[in-house]
Amino acid sequence: MEKINQVFSELSSPQVIAITMHQKPDPDAMGSALALCLYLKKRGHAVTVISPTNWADFLKWMPGADEVIDYEAKKSAAEAILSGVQWLFCLDFNHFSRTRNMETILTNLPCKKVLIDHHREPQTESFNYGISDISKSSTAEMIYDFIVNSGGADMIDKDIASCLYAGVMADTGSFRFSSTTSSVHMMVAKLKSLDINHPHIHSAIYDNFLENRLRFIGHVLSHRMEVLYEYNTAIIAIPKEDVLKYHLKTGDTEGLVNYPLSIKGIEMAALLIDRDEERKWSFRSKETFDCNSFARTYFQGGGHYNASGGRSFDSVEDNVKQFKSALKEFLSKQ
Ligand code: 5GP
Ligand code: MN
Repeated sequence: MEKINQVFSELSSPQVIAITMHQKPDPDAMGSALALCLYLKKRGHAVTVISPTNWADFLKWMPGADEVIDYEAKKSAAEAILSGVQWLFCLDFNHFSRTRNMETILTNLPCKKVLIDHHREPQTESFNYGISDISKSSTAEMIYDFIVNSGGADMIDKDIASCLYAGVMADTGSFRFSSTTSSVHMMVAKLKSLDINHPHIHSAIYDNFLENRLRFIGHVLSHRMEVLYEYNTAIIAIPKEDVLKYHLKTGDTEGLVNYPLSIKGIEMAALLIDRDEERKWSFRSKETFDCNSFARTYFQGGGHYNASGGRSFDSVEDNVKQFKSALKEFLSKQ
């Protein structure tokens, strides 16, 4: 993988570009993709954002979101576009397996591929150019750097700034996590100077659910959470019946994994959800528990040191048992 700066001169004439991100994009994935799209369009390129799957309603306010193509819903249109692109920008993931049903087509695309990401253990051989930096708070921060380093600082407008702000806000836990460096705050100062409406962005993302989602959270915290004080860990396991009863939509479980971390002494939280095709894990920790290694070792996943995800095709009950024995083994090796 060549350095990202090499891309700048290659983009001096109009190019045909697709941008993609991980499945079920979160605010960082969607915000980064849209900010880069808006910027590259301003530079005269033909740009399309293609998401591997659908996305939560709380991302629909983002400028340009209504033009994003959902690969699962519009497969042939997406494939027609992909077949004609010169460049593929891959944001907020580092392994094509994170793009679900797009994995094969993206792997085989003959175009130039660019990685911009902050997760651990990138599959660098899959990309021609890129930057992978686990010290970065968010992919949004890296897109900001990309724009500035490619000479586009003055082209950042309110729409681009709003997308970038949403991404960095979400990935830093509203500027709380240790990844929130002084550079993050300096970037946010610049974004704020472009007149972004930051209270509106917070509300659009965090105060935009239906009543059923709050009732669902009340139910799972009362009935589906187990606190393992001896391991400073809590686990929430959600069976299919809850997903159906509360009519959960994409995005409704976002952030739920963080709730148990507010219990005094709890250092690690795990959330398991029974999705149709798989059992999906989320892991979060406060300090010294390595969620990335844990997810990679036991649940076919990965991510960051303090936030990761994984999956399994076994039942919820079997997953909970596997989790408990994995946790015991993992902690005994620390
Ligand atoms: P979440 O729990 O919000 O789905 O994911 C937490 C973090 O781990 C995100 O940065 C996400 O990109 C990453 N992640 C989630 N699931 C997986 C997975 O199955 N594999 C890998 N490699 N990363 C994941
Ligand atoms: Mn991210």
